Amino acid sequence: MRFSRWVVGLVLSVLFVLPANAANSPAAPREQASRGSPPSGLRYTDNAAPAATQRVVSLYIDRDFSDDARARIGLAVRQWNVALNGFIQFRVGLLEANPQPQTLAQIRRSGGWVVARIDSRHPVARQPGARQALAMAVGSSRSGGIVYVISDRFGLADLSGVMLHELGHVLGAGHDDSTNGHLMASVYKPGNGHCIDQGAVAMVAQAQRLPLSRLNWCVGPGLEARRSR
Ligand SMILES: [Zn+2]
Repeated sequence: MRFSRWVVGLVLSVLFVLPANAANSPAAPREQASRGSPPSGLRYTDNAAPAATQRVVSLYIDRDFSDDARARIGLAVRQWNVALNGFIQFRVGLLEANPQPQTLAQIRRSGGWVVARIDSRHPVARQPGARQALAMAVGSSRSGGIVYVISDRFGLADLSGVMLHELGHVLGAGHDDSTNGHLMASVYKPGNGHCIDQGAVAMVAQAQRLPLSRLNWCVGPGLEARRSR
């Protein structure tokens, strides 16, 4: 089956778990998400960027995603590029049709990531512990890997939020369940996922050895209050 080869022998596997009955809820797709900007009233900081882009990470998007889905993935990528402020920049390309194993290996060797669309029947989605996952990032922040999007477990409206979270893992962030409303919480809450908060950026800064004060994060009414609960 496509993409199954990379499952073996990878060093990091992070799940984004579905809370009971949340993903099937018709409530709360945020309209703001479709514009790619953070939810209403929130904005990103605008700290001083380096003179030139310091590192590029390529993302190859599976052709099995619809145009609409690819657009939503692009919105998440753009927000991370704002947050990363030129220290790291994601560049998006389209994965070739029916990629051969050597193509996937080459992407990985170059530090790139594939964003793969799978469904619940895929072996990755059926692993123990992954049966409620919405998506998984498998690989390492230094050597590339694959983000599996389990497309039949959530709706298009949540794809940007799920990808914001998974790209946090791509950049080396783990989970943080210590605050309410955090992008990197292990359980997806549809109301939370459309903005890269300072906690998420701080984990990436630590993993990538970047200066937090020169990265950007989402600020605005409600965000601090949610995080401090
Ligand atoms: Zn996760």
